[in-house]
Amino acid sequence: MELKLPKKALVTGAAGFLGSHICRRLLAEGYEVTALDNLFTGTKDNILDLMDSKRFSFVLHDVTQPFWGRFDEIYNLACPASPIHYQHNPVETLKSSVLGIMNMLDLALKTKAKLLHTSTSEVYGDPLVHPQVESYWGNVNTIGVRSCYDEGKRCAETLLADYRREFGVDARMVRIFNTYGPNMHPKDGRVISNFIMQALANEDITLFGDGMQTRSFQYCDDLMDAMRRYMGLPRDVVDGFCARHGLGAPVINTGNPGEYTIRELAEETLRQIPESTSKIVYRPIPADDPKRRKPDITLAKELLGWEPKVPLKDGLAKTITYFKGLVK
Ligand code: NAD
Ligand code: UDP
Repeated sequence: MELKLPKKALVTGAAGFLGSHICRRLLAEGYEVTALDNLFTGTKDNILDLMDSKRFSFVLHDVTQPFWGRFDEIYNLACPASPIHYQHNPVETLKSSVLGIMNMLDLALKTKAKLLHTSTSEVYGDPLVHPQVESYWGNVNTIGVRSCYDEGKRCAETLLADYRREFGVDARMVRIFNTYGPNMHPKDGRVISNFIMQALANEDITLFGDGMQTRSFQYCDDLMDAMRRYMGLPRDVVDGFCARHGLGAPVINTGNPGEYTIRELAEETLRQIPESTSKIVYRPIPADDPKRRKPDITLAKELLGWEPKVPLKDGLAKTITYFKGLVK
């Protein structure tokens, strides 16, 4: 009888919010998972329960340094994602994106692994096209405070496209729109964790600007479904998709097209935590804060037969339950 060995996956940024979810998903599907993280914004708490599994191992490693191992699939998530964190150490942020993807692409090249890179809606900057389609090239400041993240992610996309064209690496990417859920760090600084933590502590809800800027919020489980479907596709299907759409590399938006003002988000958070005595207060808008953001997910629907299932109200309720558990 033929012995069937589990598929091997490498996840970078594995102790972070999304990294911990993809590790969990891969383990549940029978993979052997190597989790790599430098613990800059991630925490071992997110993956503590996975340590018991014989198919899971954690390596403290910085993706700016080369890494070696044989894997069937590589998921590249290592990079701080919250504006306060990526702006705290901007040069490291850029290095994590640019050197990180180069190291992972080199590894994929040498070992013939399939790679999925997590890009971002931030590549569209403060978009002049709405909703954002993959063919839109974006409106990004190269020298602003968000540029270390935006331009690092843009450069990573270019590297991925060129490793495919020049060396034939089987690499794909998702442009993720604001995603939230359990395992976000309570002090992460992004809007959903901030508002929930503030409401639970009866502190002021800090609304930046007039709160009329918009975002589209995707629940983490929906993103995991998209990522796994994408990696399950054979290479010729992905190549055919790129050719059909004139894309220089396989890239799809993954997000929930439901668009909300940040003020609506603050109000909904307070509605779901009625015991809170928090009041909304207005604070200055951060530099280069995008005014509108909403994904066009036509391509993801076509390629993956996927669309998000979890509305903001439901995802917010699950996330509130998670944060309540932390502050108990
Ligand atoms: P996160 O900050 O929770 O996780 C990032 C993880 O990467 C952390 O565990 C951190 O310690 C690790 N890391 C950072 N620099 C590293 C380095 N040099 N070497 C090794 N590990 C490093 O953020 P997240 O929301 O889970 O984001 C994961 C990925 O998804 C990021 O690449 C982010 O840009 C991308 N993304 C996320 C969102 C979102 O809304 N959550 C949106 C767009 C893109
Ligand atoms: N925001 C806010 N209050 C906060 C944190 C964020 O009003 O305490 C706003 C922020 O200005 C932006 C939106 O919420 O317009 C989303 O911010 P986040 O940092 O979550 O992600 P971004 O999409 O800006 O990267």
